[in-house]
Amino acid sequence: MDSAELAKLCAKLSISDVDGPIRQVSGEIKSEGLKDVDHCLVGKVLAGKRVNREAFKKVIEQLWSPIGSVEIEAVGDNTFMFFFPSLEVRSLIWSRGPWHFDRNLIVLEKPTGTGDISKLSFHMVEFWVQIHNLPLMCMNRRMARYLAEQIGTVVELPTDSRECWGRFIRVKVRIDISKPLLRCLRLNLDDSGEVTTAILLYERLPEFCYACGIIGHGLRDCPDDDARLEALEGVSTKYGSWLRAASVEQSKNRNSRNEKKPDDIPPSSYQENQTAKNSDTNRQSEQYSIDHERTQQLLTALVPVSNTTEDDNRGLKLGLLAGSTPNPS
Ligand SMILES: [Zn+2]
Repeated sequence: MDSAELAKLCAKLSISDVDGPIRQVSGEIKSEGLKDVDHCLVGKVLAGKRVNREAFKKVIEQLWSPIGSVEIEAVGDNTFMFFFPSLEVRSLIWSRGPWHFDRNLIVLEKPTGTGDISKLSFHMVEFWVQIHNLPLMCMNRRMARYLAEQIGTVVELPTDSRECWGRFIRVKVRIDISKPLLRCLRLNLDDSGEVTTAILLYERLPEFCYACGIIGHGLRDCPDDDARLEALEGVSTKYGSWLRAASVEQSKNRNSRNEKKPDDIPPSSYQENQTAKNSDTNRQSEQYSIDHERTQQLLTALVPVSNTTEDDNRGLKLGLLAGSTPNPS
């Protein structure tokens, strides 16, 4: 019986004297239980089908073993409890996400209070987002914060303005994945009326729907009939693999005081783990330049579709932009 079925059953129970009085849990039993909650994460795999539990446990144990030990138990359909003997390991696993299983996103939640799994919604995820095509006036920490706030809840920002110099800014934001991915921010930066289109690319982006832009299902399984038909019959889709940014932590941080060696960055999926040994600085540089070229192509591709409701709802209506055609140059 999974947690949802249990919750339904509890709601149906007609409590009477035969079930006895309410038992007050206190003292060490209570504090030990609450302490255990702090050592747990609960994760849901957003896959269209039921994942093989044993395969999942094996892959995740292998993937996380370089960071520390974890015990994994299935607690529902595609939902797993992770117990970490070390709080530090739990914190590292949390901060180094998002994690994937078989290209599907594992949405992690930190249980709170008594750790009621049925109350977890699994719809908020932290992503590193690269903001491309920014003019010089946007390359400072204050602007990075402002832009990050338009995307989601700010988790991490460049430590100083110097880290914002370059081809793009990286920010870590917590976003609501029940909504379409935001593809760009259109900015009215001065009084000229010219609109700057800032392109958003997501690092470690898992499988998502190219028709509606939501993570958790593929194009052919899209519940939005209009979006699905439009994508299947049209010449191009509104969303695509171009929303995936190459992970360029090493390149971006190469000259910063927070420089990290390639081994410090853990792969977040099984596939990445298998190829991690081949990663080196040269490869990262190559990804970096390809990424820049793709961004330029992307600006052109966005023009016919950048007035969509999704972008309007999550960008334009924030009151920062003028609603004119974005400048593709
Ligand atoms: Zn869809």
